[in-house]
Amino acid sequence: MKKQKGLRVIPLGGLGEVGRNMMLLEWQGKILIIDMGFRLPEESMPGIDYIIPNISYLRGKERKILGIVFTHGHYDHIGAIPYFIEKLWKPDLPIYASALTRGIILKRQKDFSGQPKLEINKVENGSKIKLNPFEVEFFRQNHNIPDNLGLFIKTPVGNILHTSDFKFDQNPVNDLPTDFKKLKEIGKRKILLMISDSTGAEEEGHSLSEEEISKNLEKIFKYSRGRIIAATFASLINRIQQIITLSEKYKRKVCIEGYSMKTNLEISRALGYIKAKRGTLIKRKEVPNWPDSKITILCTGAQGEAEAVLMRMANKEHPSLKIKRGDTVIFSSSVIPGNERTVQIMKDEILRQGAKVFHYKMMDIHAGGHAKKEELKEMIKIMRPKFFLPVHGQYSMLVSHAQLAEEMGLSKKNIIVAENGQVVNLNKKRIFIEKKRVPSNYIMVDGLGVGDVGEVVLRDRKMLARDGMFVIVAIVDRQTGRVRGSPDIISRGFVYLRESKELLRDTRKRVIAIINKATGSGGAVNWSYVKDEIKNKIGQFLFSRTQRRPIILPVLIEV
Ligand SMILES: [Zn+2]
Repeated sequence: MKKQKGLRVIPLGGLGEVGRNMMLLEWQGKILIIDMGFRLPEESMPGIDYIIPNISYLRGKERKILGIVFTHGHYDHIGAIPYFIEKLWKPDLPIYASALTRGIILKRQKDFSGQPKLEINKVENGSKIKLNPFEVEFFRQNHNIPDNLGLFIKTPVGNILHTSDFKFDQNPVNDLPTDFKKLKEIGKRKILLMISDSTGAEEEGHSLSEEEISKNLEKIFKYSRGRIIAATFASLINRIQQIITLSEKYKRKVCIEGYSMKTNLEISRALGYIKAKRGTLIKRKEVPNWPDSKITILCTGAQGEAEAVLMRMANKEHPSLKIKRGDTVIFSSSVIPGNERTVQIMKDEILRQGAKVFHYKMMDIHAGGHAKKEELKEMIKIMRPKFFLPVHGQYSMLVSHAQLAEEMGLSKKNIIVAENGQVVNLNKKRIFIEKKRVPSNYIMVDGLGVGDVGEVVLRDRKMLARDGMFVIVAIVDRQTGRVRGSPDIISRGFVYLRESKELLRDTRKRVIAIINKATGSGGAVNWSYVKDEIKNKIGQFLFSRTQRRPIILPVLIEV
């Protein structure tokens, strides 16, 4: 095999999107994996639960995987593990994560059947591990989940700095303030390449301190007389803590709803990352025992996820919790691009039911876990890398981050705006994108199926949702090749059949004509051709009459 030149940095997800973070570092065929996240589907992907990275590049290279390191416990960094760890896992595969991240991963593994029992090594601020030819040193970074670790990686071509998701926070909740001394010390080690979080790169100024967010949340607690319903991500551990602490201050009991949130709370409490006084947390059935002014409901669903608690409450589908007049609903997380409309509809629905709504645009109560322009510049200044690769964010965020790096004096040719699947190759002297890409398309998870929903299925779902379906059942006489009787038509979501008698009559006539013509000549009949003919011709006909394109399913039964 030809020896690979240079170090290869291969993002499989997280570039040009928010979520699904996963990256490979490859040196002469040996591979280090950083994070394995998933992302939530967009509104244009009906019925999809999650999207995970495509790992087919690793197929056949399993033995060359040196290890996996995880930066933090957010699902966009660990969520894909159960969907493909089996394919990569071997008993001696080294995996590293901080205590909280490890706890969240292991607990989640239990929810999936048939998973290998993972052994995850605990690392912390200052831990160093050797995965030849790489050496990774972990360092603490503030974010909105505790135990978040940045990576300083020694490689054969030079030092790489991976920031993880981060912000600079002088007044964090549940965490130590940013250790600038340590960061500066790392910055002196000659950073060849910095890989940095871009989620906040389009936003001016400095991200809010978690303390600031707490203050804003407190204003809502101070003036709310009814129940407070706070929705956030299950993995926003700091936000969960803030809501619990404020509830205690304002003598409210907290009911946690949503499986993933309950689970994360359990792990975080067991490991000491979330503190709640005895008696603060109550079960759902205990809620009616207290006046509304003494109740906080902490739940999932701020993104409008269909199955999450807040969505079910808004749609009046929740078995026991209902929105009512006097409730205050807090959306305490920013809206992921692609979910805006769903969240808007949900918000309207909650307002209609008489509740007050606070969302992140009205007050700074959103996730805010990511460095904004000023912090990103500061990070570049501290690390003074030769090469720069913005990651974690929509394409516009990556571009904005690249511009910041240029403003900070990096030369344009040393800044790479890459996309998923592109291979970034670097040595001491130069950095470039290789010509050949690796597969990085969406792998969609739908219930138990992984990757079995592709573009075609998704297109069908969209067509079904938009124009409905149209089933034509025709019975064909095997002997004569002619249609017996009149074809049956079943339709859903297309037209109201009773009011479309003429349309149906004309359709039937056309179907009979198409079949009789195709079978009339005698000899073997190509049924798939006949079906295609029906699909095309009837499709055109229905469109000419209705301007709609339902999915047409011809069913031909030979008797
Ligand atoms: Zn994160």
